[in-house]
Amino acid sequence: MHHQTPETTLKNIFGYEAFRGNQKEIIDNLLSGGDALVLMPTGGGKSLCYQIPGILRAGTAVVVSPLIALMQDQVESLRQNGVRAGYLNSSLSQAEALQVERAMVHGEMDLVYVAPERLMTPRFQELLGRTPLALFAIDEAHCVSQWGHDFRPEYMQLAILAERFPQVPRIALTATADPIVREEMAERLHLTQAKRFVSSFDRPNIRYRIVVKNTPKKQLLDFLEQEHNEDSGIVYCLSRKKVESTAAWLSDKGFTALPYHAGLPQQTRAENQRRFITDEQVIIVATIAFGMGIDKPDVRFVAHLDLPKNLESYYQETGRAGRDGLPADAWMAYSLGDAVFLRQMLDSSEGSEQFKRIQHQKLNAMLGFCEITGCRRQALLAYFGETLETPCGNCDTCLSPVATWEGTTEAQKALSCIYRTGQRYGAGHLIDVLLGKGTDKIELCGHDCVSTFGIGKELSEAEWRSVYRQLVAGGLISVNAQTGGFCLNEKSMPVLKGQEQVRFRKDPTPTRKGKQASRR
Ligand code: ADP
Ligand code: ZN
Repeated sequence: MHHQTPETTLKNIFGYEAFRGNQKEIIDNLLSGGDALVLMPTGGGKSLCYQIPGILRAGTAVVVSPLIALMQDQVESLRQNGVRAGYLNSSLSQAEALQVERAMVHGEMDLVYVAPERLMTPRFQELLGRTPLALFAIDEAHCVSQWGHDFRPEYMQLAILAERFPQVPRIALTATADPIVREEMAERLHLTQAKRFVSSFDRPNIRYRIVVKNTPKKQLLDFLEQEHNEDSGIVYCLSRKKVESTAAWLSDKGFTALPYHAGLPQQTRAENQRRFITDEQVIIVATIAFGMGIDKPDVRFVAHLDLPKNLESYYQETGRAGRDGLPADAWMAYSLGDAVFLRQMLDSSEGSEQFKRIQHQKLNAMLGFCEITGCRRQALLAYFGETLETPCGNCDTCLSPVATWEGTTEAQKALSCIYRTGQRYGAGHLIDVLLGKGTDKIELCGHDCVSTFGIGKELSEAEWRSVYRQLVAGGLISVNAQTGGFCLNEKSMPVLKGQEQVRFRKDPTPTRKGKQASRR
């Protein structure tokens, strides 16, 4: 095939007319023997970047990938297109593996996919020494990062490839946008000198929207009925229990909604995933166990009933919508409870101080994203180091601008109520005190005698919840890891002392917009 060019290969083998984005530059770089670090969002077309050089360069391209199912799919479709491809992982019999290994050593394979743990075995390393090598491709390269969300220890050893085979070009690919993870990846894989190819992470066809959660199931139902009555989509929940109850509730309302979480039998999971991919109008209700390696182009919405723990996860999960480039929705319901819960979880979690500090920063960014009044897309991309010059016009805050209000006095009342009641209660009780309610708990604690009792009648209960939510999200209140109760911190003080002003976002009242908000 040496007379082939990247263009003819693209056309003859893959059936595509033109390269996308910087695919061509990446391919040329590998063909001329250079290393590459490729940062491209999911669906951007990373696979071709190593498949085409693998086909065109003499010898075998060894592709390291942690996703067995994906490996098999790719190899199958490559074979159907006449490419000499194979894979080596635990699903093969010994005889089958031997066959692939033999062909590889004899230079009869274009591409061999291999799981990282197998790559590092002495046996495979020995085979590599005898194989004519075209290149190494390291897919899902962020797995090497300990700060990332799916750290895999086997990836740490991949640097050996650089030491043992310095003359073989290497390409590492990821859809991870987190700048810290990117740097760590380059370091650990010995690719700091590699040419970098960074694509835009913008997904312009995805419409970001975050609503204040009050009746989550009902809100989800409204969203689906009004905008996605006949579509496929994913609903993410935090717990297995909620996955099941939500799937049941949606089924009850006439949707085809299938649960997916790690606690279900393997067979059920596989079947539900299969139906989601092949059937139409299927909603999968899942924990975050679902999604990695799922390549379904026409997912019309991703809905979150619980908040992801950071923006990387949010980006990755919402990114499963609209791979086909057509309009899709990223919809999320978010509440004070989510903010409190995530802060509490983090503080009671294991891990070094440094680890927690980074996780806190990430959570702050996530909560801040929920509360912003500016363009969400600009904020999301800015977090990943990318500048979007003008507001996008395709997110909730662009489409219906959010009003803000001067709330310094209210913030002071909210904070001082925490202080006066001993810094151990959650929002429910604090709001009762502010509103001057005569609950048993207030009577029992004698909180009808504190100075903040009944001083907050100017706001409704929902408005006070919004105030507390924004204070927690903004880090002006700390959450007790054990009890979930609120206490003051160093950021509360300047507000209490009147040294700092506070502005709040005015939560849009949940009026039904009907067709106006519906799909384009
Ligand atoms: P990633 O690994 O970046 O998520 P893939 O390599 O799986 O993306 O590619 C996503 C989809 O885009 C696949 O269906 C692939 O065949 C298609 N694709 C990739 N490059 C091109 C291209 N140049 N023209 C048309 N389709 C492409
Ligand atoms: Zn916008």
